[in-house]
Amino acid sequence: MEKVHVNLNYSKYFSYDILIDHNFVDNELRGIANYNRAHLVVDKNVCELYNSFFVGDIFILNSSEHNKNLNTVYEILNFMKNRKALRNDTLFAVGGGIVGDVAGFAASIYMRGINFIQVPTTLLSMVDSSVGGKTGVNLGDVKNLVGSFYQPKKVLIDTLFLTTLPEDEFKSGLAEVIKYALLFDKDLYEFLISNKTDVVKRREDVIIKIIKRCCELKAKVVEEDETEQGIRKLLNLGHTFGHAIEVDSDHEIKHGIAVAKGIYLEALFAYEKGMIGKNVLDDIEKIFEIYDYDLNYQVRDFTLFINAIGSDKKAMSSGIVLALTSDVGSGIIKSGIDLDSIKKFFEGARWMRPQ
Ligand code: NAD
Ligand code: MG
Repeated sequence: MEKVHVNLNYSKYFSYDILIDHNFVDNELRGIANYNRAHLVVDKNVCELYNSFFVGDIFILNSSEHNKNLNTVYEILNFMKNRKALRNDTLFAVGGGIVGDVAGFAASIYMRGINFIQVPTTLLSMVDSSVGGKTGVNLGDVKNLVGSFYQPKKVLIDTLFLTTLPEDEFKSGLAEVIKYALLFDKDLYEFLISNKTDVVKRREDVIIKIIKRCCELKAKVVEEDETEQGIRKLLNLGHTFGHAIEVDSDHEIKHGIAVAKGIYLEALFAYEKGMIGKNVLDDIEKIFEIYDYDLNYQVRDFTLFINAIGSDKKAMSSGIVLALTSDVGSGIIKSGIDLDSIKKFFEGARWMRPQ
């Protein structure tokens, strides 16, 4: 079993372990499901695929961005109330980023906060969303507008779940892996380039190595800047344009796929503005090309799209903030970017990848 510790300096109580292994969570879940001091929110597909893991009364969530809202939070809170959940009880989130974000937010406000354990079942949630304590829901067409910082007590990562994950979901998660490599780890970038076959085959040891590395990188960022005042902003690489793509496509484009397009388009924008060099743009294109990502995006509703960039919660009154790759393995933050310059960039056919 691999272990990554997230050490939150202000309190040992809030620090936690991430455990990573293949085929171990089954016992844990079966063990707790009958126990009335634990409550489970489980992704619908995961519940069907791993039916024997779950016994008793659980909350089943049909994961979609359209259900990632306050109404679902309300239903989970009622589920807890009906089960007479108490302050010392634990809420388990078993599923992808949607289950984790929604259940995490519910756990953070039920009785002003109860114990919370993440059991991520998608690659994206294993390498990103289950670690770091961001929880939340969408409000109308604005992504993650309502939420809290609320750290889990533990994260249990069982790579067995990846054996049933559809190809497009795996690719979505892999985009966040590429994000970490571009921002923090040139070795991981090289590793991904040289080991494509094993990565896409999901070879167990290769996948565990990648997940562990991403968790270490994320843990380090969160330890330094839990509430995103500084370095954590880097993790938004690709997310400013990416969120607009998610919203404009009415969530037909998955989070990680939108992030991949966002990373590329933000880099193209930054290159055109002289903020980054051509070599960086080329390195970004290269890795996404190797993994067969389509980097183009055809904006559907231009006004909605630009407004989504402008209303991004990472934006400040002084302008848009973009996280960028300055060189493979290092990131920079650029703030005060004028929305008009972004608008001009997307006007015409500029969002199509130059051939
Ligand atoms: P998701 O939760 O929608 O899951 C994707 C799909 O995979 C769903 O249809 C689900 O039913 C299915 N699924 C899950 N596990 C499976 C398995 N083991 N086998 C087969 N099918 C399985 O999507 P996601 O990509 O995991 O998460 C995306 C969400 O995460 C977005 O809402 C995004 O905003 C959020 N996010 C949050 C953070 C954070 O720090 N909190 C970070 C990144 C992303
Ligand atoms: Mg993300």
